[in-house]
Amino acid sequence: DDILVEVRNLKKYFPIKGGVLQKTVGHLKAVDDISFTIKTGETLGIVGESGSGKSTLGRVLIRLLEPTDGQIIFNQTDISTLRQRQIRPIREDMQMVFQDPFASLNSKMSVEQLIEEPLVVQGKLAKKARKQKVLEVLQKVGLRKDDLQKYPHEFSGGQRQRISIARALVLNPKFVICDEPVSALDVSIQAQVLNLMKDLQDDLGLTYLFIAHDLSVVKHISDRVAVMYLGRFAEIAPKKALYENALHPYTQALLSSIPVIDLNGGPTTTREKIKLSGDLPSPANPPSGCTFRTRCPKAHDRCIIDRPDLVEISENHFVACHLYEGS
Ligand code: SF4
Ligand code: MG
Repeated sequence: DDILVEVRNLKKYFPIKGGVLQKTVGHLKAVDDISFTIKTGETLGIVGESGSGKSTLGRVLIRLLEPTDGQIIFNQTDISTLRQRQIRPIREDMQMVFQDPFASLNSKMSVEQLIEEPLVVQGKLAKKARKQKVLEVLQKVGLRKDDLQKYPHEFSGGQRQRISIARALVLNPKFVICDEPVSALDVSIQAQVLNLMKDLQDDLGLTYLFIAHDLSVVKHISDRVAVMYLGRFAEIAPKKALYENALHPYTQALLSSIPVIDLNGGPTTTREKIKLSGDLPSPANPPSGCTFRTRCPKAHDRCIIDRPDLVEISENHFVACHLYEGS
């Protein structure tokens, strides 16, 4: 079986408190009934605006947050109901790289200590072997031996992200959740870090869930891409189908705002820009029916009442929109 991650009907609801008694008056449905699989060695890109629930989804998947409902099957084990103590050994196999390498690296620790720490916490390897492993990973991410005794502030943003990646990889994980790992970096550095992550994936046989807020970042690294809106998938498809034949009006709008780069060296062009009206509605109070309807240029009566299901339109291409039902 080459499925590494299987998510079934996953939900993460946060209670909303209100009134003088601070009673639960409702729920913010950050992740609302999401199902998908990721194959070994595959990269699934997840794209959405801030507030779409994509980071929450990433955190629930590795149990940094507790799921409200649903199943997470990792490497044949249902980890959704395990106690934190039981998850610890599994954590080795699932790691996360965060958006802001400044916030996620302790500034008082040297690079050597930072990369070694996960091994120490997990009680892995004797001291000498640990040092050897740290050096090996350091070189894999493109840093040098004399960087070991330096501190995070001595590095650029891109180099700090390399340190974070080394920390995530030192335990030889199978699955890495990358939560906007290049969003805080200069555009000129983004491609370098993305290329590094791609090379590491090929080299180490990693499986990625790659979270980003726009479709251009995940384009080269992903095998499939899911577009998330208010806690649900609007569309999920193999990369080629998604970029060349986007079906959901939201995906089409997102695509229209990114430049089309010709990989054969031709001129960069843009699609006709589709402007979305309004902002993302509050996830605490989403619209009825199709939650995208308040911004959708193709919304019609039915969209106010019925919530569209995610339906497979062609092989592995799923979309949640009434325009495609019955086709
Ligand atoms: Fe737009 Fe209606 Fe489709 Fe939702 S279901 S995306 S509102 S056309
Ligand atoms: Mg986020």
